[in-house]
Amino acid sequence: MIPMVDLKNQYHMLKAEIDQAVLDALESTQFILGPNVTAFEQETAAYLGVPHAVACASGTDALHLAVVAAGIGPGDEVITSPFTFIATAEAICYAGATPVFVDIDPGTFNIDPALIEAAITPRTKAVIPVHIFGQPADMAAIRAICDKHGLILIEDCAQSFGAAIDGAMTGSLGMMGCFSFFPSKNLGCYGDGGLITCATPELAAQVKVLRNHGSAVRYHHSVIGFNSRLDDIQAAILRIKLKRIDEFNAGRRRAAHLYSSLLNDVATVPHEDGKGVHVYHQYTILTDRRDQIMAKLSEKQIASAVYYPIPLHRQEVFSAACGSLSLPVAEAVASRCMSLPIYPELTDEQVTQVATTIKEALVG
Ligand SMILES: *Cc1c(COP(=O)(O)O)cnc(C)c1O
Repeated sequence: MIPMVDLKNQYHMLKAEIDQAVLDALESTQFILGPNVTAFEQETAAYLGVPHAVACASGTDALHLAVVAAGIGPGDEVITSPFTFIATAEAICYAGATPVFVDIDPGTFNIDPALIEAAITPRTKAVIPVHIFGQPADMAAIRAICDKHGLILIEDCAQSFGAAIDGAMTGSLGMMGCFSFFPSKNLGCYGDGGLITCATPELAAQVKVLRNHGSAVRYHHSVIGFNSRLDDIQAAILRIKLKRIDEFNAGRRRAAHLYSSLLNDVATVPHEDGKGVHVYHQYTILTDRRDQIMAKLSEKQIASAVYYPIPLHRQEVFSAACGSLSLPVAEAVASRCMSLPIYPELTDEQVTQVATTIKEALVG
């Protein structure tokens, strides 16, 4: 059996260190925003090369807090990708703003910078690119558009911890960057967790107030905030994994490159645009025979998944607002994409087994 992601394998590898860290966190009884959270924020900021990092309760909350801290609200439009997890758009809606979906690049599946300007209106306040599947969006092009039109740039880095472009980490390229530590993400904890990188101390202070009931000083509330804090136990686990993130991402890249060498004659394998470092949160191919391949993989107890079967502008929740909006690249990709098992510990033998099974499916 080959799962999409094997969290048990990695836990067993790090068990001694993680168990001790969790026991120490229990003994400290500083369960929420304790010393591990502060240390993790500092270590992550140093790793990402950003001045400030503020931990929170999830990736969805990271996006929500960033949108609120950026002053985005009712009447504002925010340009983003239709080919992402729903949370990117949810965060925009939580703040009362409207997501505006712009079609994607067929090679990288990231928002296509060449199409952004046509979607800008007097109401446009921000752009939220998503570094989908772990490959950075074309940030130089997107930033040039944001600068030209005075738009806020917030990155959705939920799938891109450790990915870099133009020599800089994702999360360091906009006003704020939003990370998720959901267990299956490249850097994952053992529950929910998230983090916001901030370009200025003012923003960091504001996000800290927002995550803790609008309060900088206990029982003094300056704004309506949220309860969105990271647990110390989760931070303790994340600190251990952060030390190994480059090694984990290298393992994903090794597996991905082997997949690509074995599959490039039978499917459209991921396109690395050469601008950044792809950290393969997902390994996603395009094929016209998705059902046939998935059935064969499942018969051989190999997992596979479709990320994402329905682009956001075609989701029931947005169908009324988006009407007949046509985003042909996102729609075509959604109808042909499928993702294969990928995680740092996936062996070359397992990759080969998956590739061989796919080839068998296409012969049959
Ligand atoms: C996982 C994910 C999120 C949400 O993160 P959670 O921690 O699950 O709330 C947001 N955006 C993208 C692109 C994601 O993949």
